[in-house]
Amino acid sequence: MTQRLSYPPAMSLGHRLPTDTDDGLLLIISGPSGVGKTTITRGVERSIPDSVFSVSWTTRPPTKADVEGVDYHFVSDEEFERMKARGGFIETAGLYGKKYGTPRDWVFEQLKRGRLVILEIDVEGARQVKSHVPDAYGIFILPPSEQTLLERLRLRKREDESAIQGRFGAARLEIAQGRECGVYDTFIVNDQVDDSIRRAIEVVNEIRAARRAR
Ligand code: 5GP
Repeated sequence: MTQRLSYPPAMSLGHRLPTDTDDGLLLIISGPSGVGKTTITRGVERSIPDSVFSVSWTTRPPTKADVEGVDYHFVSDEEFERMKARGGFIETAGLYGKKYGTPRDWVFEQLKRGRLVILEIDVEGARQVKSHVPDAYGIFILPPSEQTLLERLRLRKREDESAIQGRFGAARLEIAQGRECGVYDTFIVNDQVDDSIRRAIEVVNEIRAARRAR
């Protein structure tokens, strides 16, 4: 049976189980801070039965809403660097002075099981993932306008105004990079979140059906 995902040799994970399928898809969801990508990501995860969300490692402290092991693995700088030194991440990024990384073995294990593996990561990380897994599929979430994005960042009440302005500046840059980098296959303008979730699910189902037919 053909292996549809291009695993780099160093990342192949042993022999196949009878329950493994070739249906694995690595889905990257990116977009600027405050665009609503977490809601969309979780909506996709809830609606596609074999999907799994990749819980990143981060050195940033948890917010009140964050749950360890669900939103992130919150780790010290030393733990992060140890994991990185042993090649434990597919990609890493430095954002707002903190480190973020996607755990490699877990992701490849899930792909081998035939699952839809969802990464919610930034453009820099997405570039690195695409270079390891060219078959990864990228969705970029856009705000209806820059003004709506700024309003949404304020509504989250997570940061003070100067941090919000910092995130807004970074968000504008992220959008420009997302458009230009060539990593993203689909752009979704998040006007109504339910419509965006529906569109993302449609896109995933279409790409999986097309790959099955290949
Ligand atoms: P936040 O701190 O607001 O949860 O996330 C900040 C940014 O980091 C978001 O754009 C999020 O998508 C991105 N991010 C979260 N986890 C990872 C990761 O493992 N790798 C990369 N490259 N970006 C991540």
